[in-house]
Amino acid sequence: MYIILFGAPGVGKGTQAKRISREYGIPQISTGDMLREAVREKTELGKKAEAIMNRGELVPDDLMLNLIRERISKPDCAKGLILDGFPRTTPQAEELSKLMGEMQLPPFTCIEITVPSETIINRLTSRMTCSSCGKDFNPVFTEVPTNMKCTKCGGAIITRSDDNKETIQKRLNVYNEQTAQVKYFYKDKGHFFSIDGDRDVSEVYTSINDILHRLR
Ligand code: AMP
Repeated sequence: MYIILFGAPGVGKGTQAKRISREYGIPQISTGDMLREAVREKTELGKKAEAIMNRGELVPDDLMLNLIRERISKPDCAKGLILDGFPRTTPQAEELSKLMGEMQLPPFTCIEITVPSETIINRLTSRMTCSSCGKDFNPVFTEVPTNMKCTKCGGAIITRSDDNKETIQKRLNVYNEQTAQVKYFYKDKGHFFSIDGDRDVSEVYTSINDILHRLR
């Protein structure tokens, strides 16, 4: 099962991807998490990406494609995977499709999650994230541990450097201008579903699960 969770920042892709990963035993590949790790580890990629990410812009396609090519070639992707945050441009979608062909893997199915932009802004301005495993904590939905330690891995809970009002607005503009159109790549091939993400996390998961059952 090769799934893309698609949608603007803050629609809940990461939360849903983690649950699908757990329940279906396939890896979640979040390019945002991979880049943040590269920034923390001060790799060449991390050094190139850091300022771009803090501005809320997109990291160049060639760097992203190298990253994704290397990750998808790993053995844990042989039975399926969930992409969260990739592709974000049409060239990324085209190259991903070529790569899947070369690797003799099935095409991706794209599941779009939609949420009104006011709700997204409210969610992201209050979001906190584990700096180690990427788990999200949001006081709007659940209590944040008072010791600010992640309940999953014990890592420090922080506010992401791009989760401030100005950068959030920039990321939403970038999504509308460069990413939203990517869905037509999958729509044209008939590999596209769209669901309402402005609901309880478990209701959204049920809708995704229904689609995944139909694909099996
Ligand atoms: P995310 O955690 O998915 O919100 O991604 C955080 C930031 O990482 C984005 O605002 C971009 O700067 C960068 N990024 C993540 N995925 C991609 C991608 N597929 N293409 C370009 N930049 C990306």
